[in-house]
Amino acid sequence: MADSHDIKFPSPGNVVLRGGCRCGNITYTSTSLPTSMSHCHCLACRQASGSPFQTFASFPIDSLTWTTHTSRGLSIGNTSDESGLSFYEANPWARRGFCGNCGSPVRLHSATSPREMCIVAGSIDEGSVKGELVKPTEHIFLEEQAGWFDLPEDGLGRFERFSEGESDRKIKAWMEEHGRGGGE
Ligand SMILES: [Zn+2]
Ligand SMILES: [Zn+2]
Repeated sequence: MADSHDIKFPSPGNVVLRGGCRCGNITYTSTSLPTSMSHCHCLACRQASGSPFQTFASFPIDSLTWTTHTSRGLSIGNTSDESGLSFYEANPWARRGFCGNCGSPVRLHSATSPREMCIVAGSIDEGSVKGELVKPTEHIFLEEQAGWFDLPEDGLGRFERFSEGESDRKIKAWMEEHGRGGGE
């Protein structure tokens, strides 16, 4: 295989989960199960998903390997390799990756949590999972929730914004550091 580049292939025995977009142009493997899952009701997630909320699964960033087929060719790489994904930044600190061919959202990377990758949970191939997936524990950004969707009583944590108050502080600090005022 292509071991002349800085590509680290996980050995198949270490892969515990696979996933990808609808058309199959973007696939990923992970050597770790997600550490947490949450439902985000913010407007950006609602618009990007076309749903009342977007469910994310959080992974250690180094556990993921991406394989993408695009008009620019085949690309295999670790998280830092972005050649095959299309991107959108709803906020300057949050980069959303999606498939430019079928439009499926696949991931969100926040500059304030660089060691973590949030994968769109719907892209996980459940049949590939070795072990047990954690279940979502919280609904976040309910201050922006859809008025047309009645959230059932599911016993999960409910938060107007982030579940950790620390996150807003980290974003503010990041914005100041990168000279971006205003915005969401
Ligand atoms: Zn696709
Ligand atoms: Zn969101």
